[in-house]
Amino acid sequence: MTEPTIFHKIVSGDIPSTRVYETDTVLGFNDIHPKAPTHVLFIAKREEDFVSSISDLTDQTAHVPGMLIRAAQDFAQKQGITGYQLKFHVGKDGGQEVFYLHLHFLSQQKTSDE
Ligand code: AMP
Repeated sequence: MTEPTIFHKIVSGDIPSTRVYETDTVLGFNDIHPKAPTHVLFIAKREEDFVSSISDLTDQTAHVPGMLIRAAQDFAQKQGITGYQLKFHVGKDGGQEVFYLHLHFLSQQKTSDE
């Protein structure tokens, strides 16, 4: 495997995060520098689902973005959030800083937990 990223350490719990959504395969945690009232990052947890960037997707990992989008939709439904934006930053030139595929969930609405 390549160098572990900060998100590997978030999955393992070596770095703390505010977990707001979790299943066996996907983790959602609050972005440390939120750009909206609700800003959550969704990542795949299992090593076999690891992808560094959309630009590195293969036929073997093509299901991963769908998993993250499904988790975001489930999170929104559970939190009563009716409008949101989903974004992947792709590559350094696309604003990607962490090379562990993550889906940004941004909403002007707050979660029902707050
Ligand atoms: P990107 O530009 O798509 O790679 O986004 C990386 C995101 O990760 C940025 O929005 C950062 O604020 C966020 N981030 C970096 N470190 C942490 C951390 N330790 N906990 C939560 N979010 C983080």
